[in-house]
Amino acid sequence: MNALKGRWFVAAAALTASACQSKPKLASESTKSGPTASSAAVAFSACPAPKGKSLPVPFDSAGMEPLCGEQIYVERSVTAGERTTIKQYTQRAVAAVAKTFGTSRSSGPLTAYCATDECGRYFAGPSLRAKTLAPGVTAVGGGFSDPNRTTVVIPRLGERTYGTLLHELTHVEVNARLGGAFAPAWFHEGLATRVSGAPNCKGVPRGGITDMRFLEGHRAWNEFTNRPGALAATYCQARREIDTWADKRGTGALVQLISKVGSGTAFYEAYGPTVTRCEGGCVDW
Ligand SMILES: [Zn+2]
Repeated sequence: MNALKGRWFVAAAALTASACQSKPKLASESTKSGPTASSAAVAFSACPAPKGKSLPVPFDSAGMEPLCGEQIYVERSVTAGERTTIKQYTQRAVAAVAKTFGTSRSSGPLTAYCATDECGRYFAGPSLRAKTLAPGVTAVGGGFSDPNRTTVVIPRLGERTYGTLLHELTHVEVNARLGGAFAPAWFHEGLATRVSGAPNCKGVPRGGITDMRFLEGHRAWNEFTNRPGALAATYCQARREIDTWADKRGTGALVQLISKVGSGTAFYEAYGPTVTRCEGGCVDW
């Protein structure tokens, strides 16, 4: 799949934005042995058949092209090979989310995939960071929102597209389970990074923000992680917090925590105090 060579993309976020970085390389789906759609119950189909004429999703003069019913849209220049890979990634990611959380509570987002920066900017804004957007919310500097559904934006294709998609679908599932209840941005991002492995925290130096509780809101999270050098360190700092919390309790405790918060328990009452501290080059907000 050399068609993807030379492209790269950015990943990650919850109801407004997020990010992870990657380098140019092809994204091919072939021999990995991750979970499959049949290995876990899924509530929404990874690739539903079209029901008549699909809802139009605008971009340039031609608009985006529906790939799977009204669930996945691609820029028209996305190649046939890339489309096949996108379907395979979606199937794997939906199954991986179900493996972690159980049967999905989400009805499935609209996911838009871009091949060019022009398209990426239209959906994700100038940051070109992957995003999970609440219904009716456009990215800062972006031009599209589905009024009725969550929109996942994958603004670039590349070797980390799978991890990015899994990161964003984790946000979609957690948001569905919270049902609008508050959880801090660092929790959303640390959990999505843990589940997806994106961004990759191997070799990322410790550091980040002096206290993650400064990053309760997604706007603060996005602004802080847009600072030069802050992105991977902060995502990995949040992941370390979630990993440490869950090491003592198990991943099931995270799912129970989300359920509790979704049922009305205040987040910090359910979570308790944070269990890690910033180490290394920690920056104040
Ligand atoms: Zn994220």
